[in-house]
Amino acid sequence: MKRSPWQRRIDRAHELISQYAFAAEILGFYIHVARFQGELQRKLRSPLPQESPGSSIHEELTPNELSRLTSEFESFLTLVEAHGPKTLADLSRQLSARDQDFWAELLKQNWSAHAPSGPQSFLALAFLQPYAELLRSQEVLRSEFQRYAVCPFCNRKPGLGVLRQMGDGAARSLICSFCLAEWEFRRIVCPGCGEENDQKLAVFTAEDFNYIRVECCDTCKTYLKTIDLTKNGRAEPVVDELASAPLDLWAQDRGYAKLQNNLLGM
Ligand SMILES: [Zn+2]
Repeated sequence: MKRSPWQRRIDRAHELISQYAFAAEILGFYIHVARFQGELQRKLRSPLPQESPGSSIHEELTPNELSRLTSEFESFLTLVEAHGPKTLADLSRQLSARDQDFWAELLKQNWSAHAPSGPQSFLALAFLQPYAELLRSQEVLRSEFQRYAVCPFCNRKPGLGVLRQMGDGAARSLICSFCLAEWEFRRIVCPGCGEENDQKLAVFTAEDFNYIRVECCDTCKTYLKTIDLTKNGRAEPVVDELASAPLDLWAQDRGYAKLQNNLLGM
């Protein structure tokens, strides 16, 4: 039976837990989140009869969409409270005490804001992510936007990169931190500032994760992790990006800021 993308990510998380003890906690949490996200996306796939046609990732959430999403948000908060790291669990407990109007506003704002602001945003975005991915998958890529380093669908910054085999070499794509769109992007260009001088673009790898490149820019001092699928075909980019948190500490110790945190806020 063909595994859904969610199941592939969950399976990969289990695999990485057995390999990297230090990542067990965050990946254990991720597995709960991914199960919820997969289930939510399955529910959202069947449109409500009264739903207005043409829902789009570019548009604000309609009142119908919002009430549908808001009704599912409480169970997400309960999940994070039970399984999340302490700061997120505490925050979820506080948010659980608020009412539906507050949740609706939180979801609405974060759907439209292009840069997350703090842990509350990350909770909202992690919850909204399966819906963003669903709407994006129903749209056609407007190719003229692909030269930019922001998502061609939802305008957010990429959360990671991937290298895929292309002829004799490898081509780089970027993956949206929110809707998980993937678009090709030239290899020797910083997605943070457009720097093209390879003297300024350092690439680091560590023995533990020899298939993950930490791509740093000395001009804007940002970095992005790129998963080299030509070296590790088993990797699920989003999950392997999460598991390789030690590389983030390494880059941040050297003064680089992550271009865009992942949906667990890391
Ligand atoms: Zn996007």
